[in-house]
Amino acid sequence: MKKGELRMSTGILAKKIEEFERIGKLINAPGWFYDEMLTPKRVLKMQIRANVGGKPTSLTAIRVLHRNPHPTGARPFKGGTRFHPAVTEELLTVLAMDMTEKCALAGLPFGGAKGGIAFDPSVCSEAELRNITEQMIIEMLQDNIPHPDIDVPGPDVGTNPTVMYWMYIKLADMNRFRNIPNVPAMVTGKPIENDGIPGREDATSHGLLIQLKEFIRLARPAFSDSAHPSLVIQGFGNVGYNTARLAGKKEFDFRVQAVSDKDGGIYNPNGLNIAHVKKWYDERGTLAEFPEGDVVTNKELLELKTDILIPAAIENQITKENADNIKAIMISEGGNETITPEAHQILYARGIPAIPGIAANVGGVVVSYFEWRRNRGDRKHRVDFDDEKEWVYSELSKIMHNVIQNVWTKSQELSCSLSDAAHILAMETIRDQLRKKHSYMD
Ligand code: NAD
Repeated sequence: MKKGELRMSTGILAKKIEEFERIGKLINAPGWFYDEMLTPKRVLKMQIRANVGGKPTSLTAIRVLHRNPHPTGARPFKGGTRFHPAVTEELLTVLAMDMTEKCALAGLPFGGAKGGIAFDPSVCSEAELRNITEQMIIEMLQDNIPHPDIDVPGPDVGTNPTVMYWMYIKLADMNRFRNIPNVPAMVTGKPIENDGIPGREDATSHGLLIQLKEFIRLARPAFSDSAHPSLVIQGFGNVGYNTARLAGKKEFDFRVQAVSDKDGGIYNPNGLNIAHVKKWYDERGTLAEFPEGDVVTNKELLELKTDILIPAAIENQITKENADNIKAIMISEGGNETITPEAHQILYARGIPAIPGIAANVGGVVVSYFEWRRNRGDRKHRVDFDDEKEWVYSELSKIMHNVIQNVWTKSQELSCSLSDAAHILAMETIRDQLRKKHSYMD
């Protein structure tokens, strides 16, 4: 096995590589597979000067294009854009590798990518955020991305449809000098009225809940309340809030007992009224002192007794330090890398099924794929948004069912964790695609 370029890493990337090599052995991956997968295709680092909370600051925007197992042409890299203080090249590399696996697992024709900038967007004015976003796009264009056939960013932590709209407008403006067709297909997660697609904003959450229902049907976990299973959700952003909001709908019928943001959470064992929580949060910018629940720290929230735990914030929340304290009957990873590989193994040994992020939160990129296709004119734009949303949800549902059925079947066949099963399936697919792409013989 030759040395891949990423093997010098520490921290989250070192753990990801260790895990990758362990799964690689399980699928008898050839040497070239490690070389390909442990060497990102391109890593861009771009220096930006901008005001952050009124202070002139030097920022480094990073974009990692991991691997694209599809023949080059109209098969771009795809991945979100993160604005968060903890962004590093290592973290983005791990998240880009996850994207490569996610796309393979869901059968999407994309390679994996991730981008971001390390800063705290919550201290910025709207004008500052827009300026940072536009500067990042100007720098990226020097390397001919975003581009509908090369690299298509979407939203992630700290970015939202408004940020995606700013990117889109800047790209449209700059395209006067480039004349690349299908400008709207250069970024996804745009507002519906600006060439976005209905259903994208809550796609990750919607997909997660559809998949969770199917998993419960397949695995029949022993919940305390099988009629209305209880949920505890970490995170109250795009994925956390929308999961909490949709969970109580008749088609899902879950009861949300707790939610949190970065400063802590609130808990009511009988269930929270999410509309009340959202109103409180929007008015005050905090969950603290919400009158219809008790205060919990993020640490306590993860260890609450509940049927289903959904970590939907940031990575490394369930580790070998607290995996033994988890009391949930099962877990579904709304966020990426929220459970470390070691913790996945501990949970499996404890009989707690945990649907890994590459399967559970794949709905976001699935609906981004629909948006990208529509923007390229592959499918006719429907004027009626409700009609379009129904189509999106029905197609999303097929893919989410398919993913969890495949993962469940594999885990039963091999008597392994859902995490191992999902990674095995994804890596087998990528290995076979790369073998075909490069005509490798072994
Ligand atoms: P977001 O920025 O909308 O929300 C993030 C939430 O996490 C916020 O409530 C924030 O307060 C909370 N948070 C931040 N730091 C925290 C900490 N240290 N402890 C506890 N909570 C913390 O982001 P999002 O888009 O909801 O993304 C959440 C996760 O889902 C990420 O892992 C992201 O990669 C993943 N994801 C997002 C999408 C998408 O389309 N947005 C798709 C797939 C996966």
